[in-house]
Amino acid sequence: MIKEECGVFGIYDFDGGDVASTIYYGLLALQHRGQESCGIAVSDTSGPKGKVLSSKDMGLVNEAFTTEILKKLKGDIGVGHVRYSTAGSSTRENAQPLVLNYVKGTLALAHNGNLINAPELRKELEYTGAIFQTTIDSEVIAYFIARERLNSKTVEEAVGRAMKKIKGAYSLIIMSPRKLIGARDPFGFRPLCIGKRDNSYVLASETCALDTIGATFVRDVEPGEIVTISPEKGIESDKSMCIPKEQHARCVFEYIYFARPDSFVDGMSVYNSRILAGRYLAIDSPVDADLVVGVPESGNCAALGYAMESGIPYGQAFVKNSYVGRTFIKPGQKNRESSVQVKLNALRDAVEGRRVIMIDDSIVRGTTSDRIVRMLREAGAKEVHMRVSSPPFLWPCYFGTDIPARDQLIAYNRSVDEICKIIGADSLGYLKEERLSQIVEGREICSGCFTGKYPLDPPEDDIRGEFDH
Ligand code: SF4
Repeated sequence: MIKEECGVFGIYDFDGGDVASTIYYGLLALQHRGQESCGIAVSDTSGPKGKVLSSKDMGLVNEAFTTEILKKLKGDIGVGHVRYSTAGSSTRENAQPLVLNYVKGTLALAHNGNLINAPELRKELEYTGAIFQTTIDSEVIAYFIARERLNSKTVEEAVGRAMKKIKGAYSLIIMSPRKLIGARDPFGFRPLCIGKRDNSYVLASETCALDTIGATFVRDVEPGEIVTISPEKGIESDKSMCIPKEQHARCVFEYIYFARPDSFVDGMSVYNSRILAGRYLAIDSPVDADLVVGVPESGNCAALGYAMESGIPYGQAFVKNSYVGRTFIKPGQKNRESSVQVKLNALRDAVEGRRVIMIDDSIVRGTTSDRIVRMLREAGAKEVHMRVSSPPFLWPCYFGTDIPARDQLIAYNRSVDEICKIIGADSLGYLKEERLSQIVEGREICSGCFTGKYPLDPPEDDIRGEFDH
C-alpha cells in the first residue's frame, strides 16, 4: 500500500454566512487523502481586504480543530486542506493552506499534487529576492501567482500566467479577498469538482465531500480549466490552458485506491471501477476456492467484483480496528510493521479449513502482503491465493504519490512467481495492464508507475521529497 497525497476543499457563501464549520466537515470527508496535517483559512469578504484568519496543525481533522477554534474562524469564504507529505517534510510550517501577503492583498492556497519543476522555479524566485518559509511546492505556486498578479488585471489571469510556468500535477484552490478560484493542471492528474449548496459554491477534491455537507454536484473542473467563483458572475471558466482530450492523464490510482468508493471522479464511479477491476481479475486469473475476501478497506470492492464474476462467495476475513487510523499514519518501517497487526485481525471462523482468495489494491514492497497472508494461514486458511487489483508497480511516481524508487519495489526485476514465493501465497495474480483503461471506461489515464510511460518527462533529479520508507 502507498500513501495518499492531499485533499483540498473551498467554499464561498454568497449570503455571507460563516463557512469554517462546513470546511471542517468537508475535510473530514477527505481525511483519507492525508492524515499528517490539516488547516483552514477563511476571510470576510465584507471586511477589510487582506484579513485572513487561519489555523493549521499536525494530526487528524478532529484532533486539530475544536469548536472554539472553528468559532474564531469567522468568514464567508475559505479554503481547507488535509495533507500527507509527498514533497517537503512533515512539519507544522509545511501544513496548508498557505497564506501569503503581498502588495495586492492576501492569497490563501491549497494544493494537491507535485510539481516536477519546483526546484528550478524555487531557484528562479530566490534569485529575484523571494524568501521561502516552507519546503513545499505550494509556496512556489503562491509566489508565482503573487508575482504575476502585479502584471495582471485579475487574480485569475495571474493564476493562468503562473500555470504557464509550473509543470506537473496540481489541483488548486485559491482564495483571494473577493473570489474563490479552482484550477486543475492540463493533464488532470488529480481530481477537482464543483458543488452548490443554497447560495454557496464549493470546490472539493472528491464528490464524497459534497455529499457530506449536503451540496449537490455541479460538475468536475476540467483538466487545464480555471474556474472563478464570485457573487457578481457566479462561475466563470477559462479554458485557455486546456490541451486536447487525448493527452489527458488522470491518475488511475485515484480509482484503484486513493479516492473513496462513494466518490465519482470525472464522471466515473470509483466503486464501479473497483468492481470492474475485481471482475477482470476473476476473468484473467481464475482459481478454484471457497471464499473471496478483501483486505480492508480498499480491497473490498474489488473482492466483491471478483465474487460476482466467479460465483465464489464473498466474505469477510478480517476485523479492522478503525480507531487506530490508516496503516501509515506515521512514516517509518518500525511503525508500519507493527501497525499491520494492530489494525487487522483474521476471523478464524470464517477462514479455517477454507481455500481463500484475498484481494488487495497493490503490492509495493511486499512486507504488508507477507504479513497478511501469514495472518490468514495462522487463522487456519487451507490455501491463500492473492489477487491484486492493479498491475505490478515497476516505476516511481513524480506526480503526488509516494511510490518509491525502483529498487524498493518488490516487482522490480522479479517474476510474478518469485513475488508469490516471497509473500508466501499459494498463487498470485495481478490486474493486466491493458485492463486499466477498461476499469475507467476508456477515460484517458496516467499509468506511469506501471508502464514507465509518463505523460510528462520525469525530472532528472529525484524531486520527490523526503520520504521516509
Ligand atoms: S505514476 Fe501512477 S500514481 Fe503517479 S500519477 Fe501516474 S498513475 Fe498515478
